[in-house]
Amino acid sequence: MTATLTPYSGVEPDAAWRDEVRRLVEQRDAVLLAHNYQLPEIQDIADFTGDSLALSRIAAESSASTIVFCGVHFMAETAKILSPGKTVLIPDERAGCSLADSITAADLREWKAQHPNAVVVSYVNTTAEVKAETDICCTSSNAVDVVASIPADKEVLFCPDQFLGAHVKRVTGRDNIHIWAGECHVHAAINGPELAERASQDPSADLFVHPECGCATSALYLAGEGIVPSEKVKILSTGDMVKEAKATNARSVLVATEIGMLHQLRKAAPEIDFRAVNDRASCRYMKMITPAALLRSLRENKDEVHVDPETAARARASVQRMIEIGQPGGGE
Ligand code: SF4
Repeated sequence: MTATLTPYSGVEPDAAWRDEVRRLVEQRDAVLLAHNYQLPEIQDIADFTGDSLALSRIAAESSASTIVFCGVHFMAETAKILSPGKTVLIPDERAGCSLADSITAADLREWKAQHPNAVVVSYVNTTAEVKAETDICCTSSNAVDVVASIPADKEVLFCPDQFLGAHVKRVTGRDNIHIWAGECHVHAAINGPELAERASQDPSADLFVHPECGCATSALYLAGEGIVPSEKVKILSTGDMVKEAKATNARSVLVATEIGMLHQLRKAAPEIDFRAVNDRASCRYMKMITPAALLRSLRENKDEVHVDPETAARARASVQRMIEIGQPGGGE
């Protein structure tokens, strides 16, 4: 994936586009899913919006024969892993993920060879091949529970996100956890000093922080130092952010994750002033799913996602082990 990728363009998200998209969705017996980081017009036309794992589970439970997944490639792959009998389309297969790309199956096999007795825990932002090499998957909601379920004397290999790994290590107090040094370029750009400055400008605001952010550690530090009250700092998956938006009494909220999230939060609680900690935190891969790309996908049945059945079966086992441990909540 490179910065020179040009998204499909030339289609306005007007009423005619909306009618045509919905007509084609019906005609194809499809369910249209949109991740929380998608463009607002894509979120608004979808049957369901949410985080990656919640959407994959909706897809698996849906009676539709085709899943159109507006998100990045590993998310559509996860839908295919959980729904092997359905046709899964992603409107632009070039929509990758810098975090998922930060570890390959070969990297993981080599790491496992160095720690042959370790249990491998992988975040859902990984390819099907990496999931197939994984013992238990996790989301940002349940990463702590998944690691805590592993006997204390067992080494753990945690990948690929170093910030989520640091959060899990801190909460579990475990010192036999090895953390892969991967990161998402968008989340890593949301940093502690920026968060501290924004928090000091608005001391009454809640802080909603995604644990993949470089600032998750800073947010906990600010709370620990009493710079912001600890009850104001909420480390949440994107799905839990929507729930918390409906529950909080705060009048304003600083949000530390990809800026597409603001759309769902504002819809969930229009009376709250939601502001991004870093308003440049936009994922260019997520934004490749344009109105033109979605129309092309529905008209031409593209791009179809394939996962070979053996890889899918092994990957599915690591996702199912996670589900057996507890409520998966949401991933990104
Ligand atoms: S925001 Fe980061 S982790 Fe999420 S899809 Fe984009 S590159 Fe991947």
